Amino acid sequence: QSNLNPKYTFENFIVGTSNQFAHAAALAVAENPGKAYNPLFIYGGVGLGKTHLMQAIGNYIKKKSPWKKVIYVTTETFMNQLIEALKSDNISSFREKYRNIDVLLIDDIQFIGGKERTQIEFFHTFNALYDAGKQVVLTSDRPPKDIPTLTERLRSRFEWGLIADIQPPDFETRVAILKRKAELEGIEVSDKVIKLIATIIKSNIRQLEGALIKLKAKATLEGKPITERLVRELFSQESPEERAEKRRREISLKLIKTTVSSEFGVDEELLLSSSRKKQVALARQVAMYLAKRIGNYPYTQIAAAFNRDDHTTVLHAVRKVEELRKRDEKINQLLEKLELKVREEVE
Ligand code: ADP
Ligand code: MG
Repeated sequence: QSNLNPKYTFENFIVGTSNQFAHAAALAVAENPGKAYNPLFIYGGVGLGKTHLMQAIGNYIKKKSPWKKVIYVTTETFMNQLIEALKSDNISSFREKYRNIDVLLIDDIQFIGGKERTQIEFFHTFNALYDAGKQVVLTSDRPPKDIPTLTERLRSRFEWGLIADIQPPDFETRVAILKRKAELEGIEVSDKVIKLIATIIKSNIRQLEGALIKLKAKATLEGKPITERLVRELFSQESPEERAEKRRREISLKLIKTTVSSEFGVDEELLLSSSRKKQVALARQVAMYLAKRIGNYPYTQIAAAFNRDDHTTVLHAVRKVEELRKRDEKINQLLEKLELKVREEVE
C-alpha cells in the first residue's frame, strides 16, 4: 500500500520555467532512486505541484519496479501514526514499517516544526533509510532554513541532497496547464477563454483547475457554452470598494432607465429591446447619454446594461444626443430636467 494517486504522473505534469528545475530533479531521482539526489527537498507555495511531482516519482518507480516498496505519507499522518504507536506500545512495528522500504515520500514536512518527539523519530528513520541507500523525498512550503524550531541536525540533513523550488507558473505555463486539463476533462473552451482565465488566476494551479470545473458546471447548468463573459462573471476579482461602487452605479443605471422611460412614456423593457420606433430609439439614446455623462460608465458597461453587444452603439448615441442638444432647445431643456432628476435621486 503506497497511497499513491495514479493521476499524479510525469506525463500529466506540464513543465514550464517555473517548475522545470524541480521537474528535472524529480525525474532524475525517479530514474535513479537513492543515487541521484538524496534527499530531494522540493519546496514552494500552495497548489504549485509539490505533491504531484513527489507522487510522480513514486508512480514512476512503482511502474518500472513494482516490487519496490514506496510509501507516500503526509507529515501529519506520519505524526499521528507515531503517536498511536507510542500509545499502544507498538513503536517497533512503526519503525519496521518505515525502515523497511525503498522510497519514502514525506509531504509537507514544514509541519514537523515544533514537534519534538516526531523530529527525533524522523531523524532516526531518515538515518536508517539514508544509510541503506534508500531514497527520501521531502516537500515543504518553505526551505529548510525557514522551518521554525527544526533541530539543527534535521535541518542539515534536509540540505544534504538537492533543494529545488517551484515558483508560481508564468502565463504560458498557465495556458498550457489549462489546455491540458480541459482536454483531460473533456471541457470545451476556446483559446480566448483559456487566456482570460490565465490572466485572472495567477498564483495557484489548483485554482486554475478549480476554475475550469466551476465554469463547466455553471455552463452546463445554464445550457450555454463557456464564454469570456461567464469567466468574468465568476472570477473577476473585485475589492469591496469596487463592489460597492458597482452597486451604487447599478442603482443609478436603473434609476436612469426608470426616469427616462417615464419621461418619454416608453416602457422600460423597450429600452432594452431592439425596437427602432422613433420615440423608443430616442429614449434609449437619451438614457445611454445620461449613463455616460452622469454615471460616467464605461461604454462597454452601458452597452451591456442595454443588451447591446457592440459598445459603438453607445458611442453613436452619445454623439447623436450631444448634436441634438445643440440644435434643439426643447430637447436641451428636457435633458436638463432629466439630469437634475437623476442627480437629485442619487445624491
Ligand atoms: P501542492 O502540493 O504544491 O500544494 P499539488 O501538487 O497538490 O500542489 O497541485 C495542485 C493541483 O495542481 C493538482 O491537481 C496537480 O495535479 C495540479 N498541478 C500542479 N502543477 C501542475 C503541472 N505543472 N501540470 C499539471 N498539473 C499540475
Ligand atoms: Mg501538497
